[in-house]
Amino acid sequence: MAIISCPQCQKSISDKHKACPHCNAAFGEMDAETKTRLAARTKTQKQQSLMNQSFIALILFLGGFLVLYWQHPVPGSWQQTACYGAIAIGVVWYLVNRVRLVFLKRKKL
Ligand SMILES: [Zn+2]
Repeated sequence: MAIISCPQCQKSISDKHKACPHCNAAFGEMDAETKTRLAARTKTQKQQSLMNQSFIALILFLGGFLVLYWQHPVPGSWQQTACYGAIAIGVVWYLVNRVRLVFLKRKKL
């Protein structure tokens, strides 16, 4: 028994399964070419979703930063806390997405 990754959802499953227990993709009857194509498509979709998320994270970061820069919220006010929060979440989220993208790119099909 070997652990393989599902060609559709990329989750780890046993190669004894005829269909993925996570997403119900029936790959038992698929040939190698179909599996590769499906995996490539899923990878592209995942990559796209990660890119979108990094974009949102970047906007969150920039939004917090610009409000802080232009509005000069009163120190200690909730506006300032919200700005710092948006910046912190934006940076962390962005970095997490970049790291996930790098790992996704390294992962072979
Ligand atoms: Zn699956």
